[in-house]
Amino acid sequence: MDAQTRKTVIQHFRQVYLEADKAMCLLNPFCMRGCAWCCYQSVEMLNWEEPILTDYLQRHKNDPVFSKVYENLLTWFGFFDATFPKNELTMHDAFDYLNTRQARQKIPCPFLVENYCAIYPVRPLCCRCHIAVENNHSCKANLLNDSEPEAEAYREKVVNEIVKNVPTTLRLLPFVAAPFFGLENRIKPIHYTRLLPVNN
Ligand code: SF4
Ligand code: SF4
Repeated sequence: MDAQTRKTVIQHFRQVYLEADKAMCLLNPFCMRGCAWCCYQSVEMLNWEEPILTDYLQRHKNDPVFSKVYENLLTWFGFFDATFPKNELTMHDAFDYLNTRQARQKIPCPFLVENYCAIYPVRPLCCRCHIAVENNHSCKANLLNDSEPEAEAYREKVVNEIVKNVPTTLRLLPFVAAPFFGLENRIKPIHYTRLLPVNN
């Protein structure tokens, strides 16, 4: 991706995130920063979300919180290697089986530091659209608790619009972040399938 395209994509996703936050607000979420029972699931992100994240990491690289994130990434990749000793992974391994194992073993997202998200302003769409209304009781009781259906439907609509217009793939957040932390040697090969639009 050339520098100009990257800049355009970052600007576009600032707007996408702003609109997603507004849409979630209208659903009256109980969610707040520091409530993090939902941060024990695997986090996936679109390839188009990667520039805004890496740009943020670059601009905040001296923030002390990221030394803790580095340690968390080592822990996460340790868990990942133990869960998937093979050197190749399918999409199902990466996004479904992993999600269940991560929550059951209470392995937090590597960006969760003292119960706060270290990349809160640029957290991926799947985190922004994972909400609960009224209270967090079901999130606390079940780390695999789903997001509110309206929030999930909103996310699917946004993703589908993107997928219809440009070739789009999904990756796991720790995989996207690893090279930034000098951990590219921890990444196992995953065959990332291109997302296809859903006909409504
Ligand atoms: S989804 Fe649940 S755990 Fe996550 S912030 Fe909202 S209330 Fe808290
Ligand atoms: S990116 Fe932030 S909000 Fe998303 S799971 Fe990780 S810590 Fe939680």
